[in-house]
Amino acid sequence: MDISVIVPLYNEAESLPELQQWIERVMLANGFSYEVIYVNDGSTDDSWEVIQRLAAGNPSVKGVCFRRNYGKSPALNTGFRRAKGDVVITMDADLQDSPDEIPELYRMITQEKYDLVSGWKQKRYDPLSKTIPTKLFNATARKVSGIKNLHDFNCGLKAYRNKVVKHIEVYGDMHRYIPYLAKNAGFNRIGEKVVHHQARKYGTTKFGLDRFVNGYLDLATLWFTNKFGVKPMHFFGLLGSLMFLLGLVAVVIVGALKLKAMYCGEHYTLVTSSPYFYIALTTMILGTQLFLTGFIGELVVRNSPRRNDYEIEEELNLDTAEKPE
Ligand code: UDP
Ligand code: MG
Repeated sequence: MDISVIVPLYNEAESLPELQQWIERVMLANGFSYEVIYVNDGSTDDSWEVIQRLAAGNPSVKGVCFRRNYGKSPALNTGFRRAKGDVVITMDADLQDSPDEIPELYRMITQEKYDLVSGWKQKRYDPLSKTIPTKLFNATARKVSGIKNLHDFNCGLKAYRNKVVKHIEVYGDMHRYIPYLAKNAGFNRIGEKVVHHQARKYGTTKFGLDRFVNGYLDLATLWFTNKFGVKPMHFFGLLGSLMFLLGLVAVVIVGALKLKAMYCGEHYTLVTSSPYFYIALTTMILGTQLFLTGFIGELVVRNSPRRNDYEIEEELNLDTAEKPE
């Protein structure tokens, strides 16, 4: 099969028939063999009935129905696990993404050998309250992830080589950082294509402004787990040791000042009146705690069943060699 289209959706009943027709038109015109996997993320309208109807009329239409609303990432992940096409394309259900982009995305994956191609809504039809924070968000994501050529991390329209979606796990709200997840799994050929974007035709957006707060927190999590996930001591241990050292220096200063005052016969005060005393106190406590956090982190990692999961591209002449997918 050439293409799997994955469409996560939450209350998008009005858009679905139009979207399906459009996808069919494009697939037919280009002679692709395809499937469309609709993942109904616990919609409370009649989206699922619409999908059932569409599936009855076309065996290429497939569907998964969540019992409740989990979010876009779980919906995408579920679609990824089921996708059979050589190229996997994700697309929002609200008709903001255009199926007309599919042939070019397919070509970029199969011929230009990209692992992942992300859409770039260069001209967006969204309110300003969304586009300005998005610019900031993307700049930070570029910096943290080191993927310098992406302008738009969170575009719903993306294309992947099948292997990529089988090796990444999208959970929580991590759909905003799929290129970063792919990069962490060793897929480095990440490209971008300018795509047409349209204003939402039916329904309303499913994400409020809290997306930006959560987005930054998720980015911090990803950065940390990628860098120190299996070696937390390298982070906490270093920070803790530096703190402790600072405290030690302060202790020496406190002691020296006191001794000097005593031996020189100066009027001497209590050590607690010296600012160095408080610096020593706080940094040594904090330092010990950071160090212990790192140590506990190491113990947790040691028990993780995934501590030795590595992305293996290929093996040669080994009995244990698995065929790459
Ligand atoms: N979506 C989903 N589960 C959710 C929220 C959204 O499956 O909990 C789907 C939604 O139906 C749409 C896509 O994710 O197909 C993108 O959502 P939306 O268009 O509201 O986001 P925006 O375009 O405003 O960023
Ligand atoms: Mg949308």
